[in-house]
Amino acid sequence: MTTMLTGSVVRPGDPGYEEARLNINARFSKYPAAIVFCEHVEDVANAVRWSRKNGYPLRVRSGRHCYEDFTLADGGIVIDVSPMNDVRFDPASGTAVVQTGIRQLSLYEALWREGVTIPGGTCPWVGIAGLTLGGGLGFLSRLLGLACDQLLEVEMVLAGGQVIRANDRQYADLLWASRGGGGGNFGIATSFTFRAHPVSEVAIYRIAWPWGDLPQLLNVWQHWAPSVDERLTPSLVLSASSNDYCSSSGLFLGPERRLRELLAPLLGTGTPLETEIMTVPYLEAMYRFGGLRKEQSQWQMIPERRYRFKNSGGFVYRPLPPQAISTIAAFLDAAPSPLCMIVFEGMGGRLGRIPAHATAFVHRQASFHMQYITQWDDPAADEPHLRWAESIRKALLPYTFGQYVNYPNVFDPDWAHAYYGSNLNALRRIKRKYDPDNVFRFAQSIPPL
Ligand SMILES: Cc1cc2nc3c(=O)[nH]c(=O)nc-3n(C[C@H](O)[C@H](O)[C@H](O)COP(=O)(O)OP(=O)(O)OC[C@H]3O[C@@H](n4cnc5c(N)ncnc54)[C@H](O)[C@@H]3O)c2cc1C
Repeated sequence: MTTMLTGSVVRPGDPGYEEARLNINARFSKYPAAIVFCEHVEDVANAVRWSRKNGYPLRVRSGRHCYEDFTLADGGIVIDVSPMNDVRFDPASGTAVVQTGIRQLSLYEALWREGVTIPGGTCPWVGIAGLTLGGGLGFLSRLLGLACDQLLEVEMVLAGGQVIRANDRQYADLLWASRGGGGGNFGIATSFTFRAHPVSEVAIYRIAWPWGDLPQLLNVWQHWAPSVDERLTPSLVLSASSNDYCSSSGLFLGPERRLRELLAPLLGTGTPLETEIMTVPYLEAMYRFGGLRKEQSQWQMIPERRYRFKNSGGFVYRPLPPQAISTIAAFLDAAPSPLCMIVFEGMGGRLGRIPAHATAFVHRQASFHMQYITQWDDPAADEPHLRWAESIRKALLPYTFGQYVNYPNVFDPDWAHAYYGSNLNALRRIKRKYDPDNVFRFAQSIPPL
């Protein structure tokens, strides 16, 4: 058994250290002792053993999109699985074995070549590892459930460096915890086996309204979205008033004609400025929602740049009363920048029929999720943006219940209950069983019972 660091190890002073130590959120800047880019499961196991033997804190990283930078530690060892990004689809079983270093769009592209997909989010660069371990909300959630609901097996390196496979026959509690219990808590996932779903063409829409339509639009959307035909997962974006627009988009696994009928309540609200409804291949829908641009008949990725952001949010179980809608409008009217917005993600459908205790993702009965988003570049503008994101969360607390672990928020002292609710104790027991020494520890890791 080796206790060497293997893989590609980047240390301070090495070329590439600067790039290797930074994540997407430019609010954070930490200096790890080493970043270990792992190509094989053995590299991950060696890094865990080596870090423990030499007394280094360790962190786990894949797609680098954690809101609060839980993947980095000053003076720590970052175990980065991003070089492990192989995808194998087995048509006979309809399952895909996916290494955890892959990012969403690359996974969608690989699966599309096989005529299948798994439900996930829309940002091309988000890592499948963090997304799945925390849940995975997206435009197929109401029809197929969350990304974690498709998870059949996880290969994981545990705190002692041993490699195990958790499925419903062995380590079933670890599989349960990996379905929404949050990344970085129990071990390092190196591959996922997903149930994949056939997909071809889909109908998508986008409607925009003037900002002044916000109160009636939000009210109609919130009553319509949770119970509309579950083949449709809709979202709603309410932006800062200075942009003078609000919009709703969604994806429907059915004919465009039927989608148009389903959208009647939205189209009959306020004065829509633009309406786009179209049928496209599923992959093109992901390109469009992911913000890719078509140039000379090719879809082009716009390189992602680092920016400062602070998001928070909450699940909504009951329709927002007029008072809450007024609060939302007031915050968007006083937003510190035009890039502030609130994104509502439709829930219900199949995702809501899975019992709250069947997986670690507890917020099954919510009607939708509401995310308060800020984005800026100038460090001098930190204070007003952080204040806005936290003040709106607090102002809307009477109308929300819990938070999504994939949108973590270090300002919430009650984060463990907010993320895990009545699943918290079970998660803490599983943490004690598999990581009694609390090796996988960070600001909001699950405390062992
Ligand atoms: C622009 C943007 C768009 C997003 N859109 C969506 C969306 O549509 N739907 C949605 O549900 N979420 C969305 N998210 C949230 C996203 O799901 C989380 O940020 C997720 O944790 C990112 O995973 P990652 O692998 O990219 O991040 P990382 O920063 O690498 O990791 C995130 C967490 O997972 C842990 N982790 C990473 N790899 C592993 C591993 N191999 N084994 C164990 N733990 C690991 C890390 O330690 C960390 O705690 C979005 C985030 C951003 C920034």
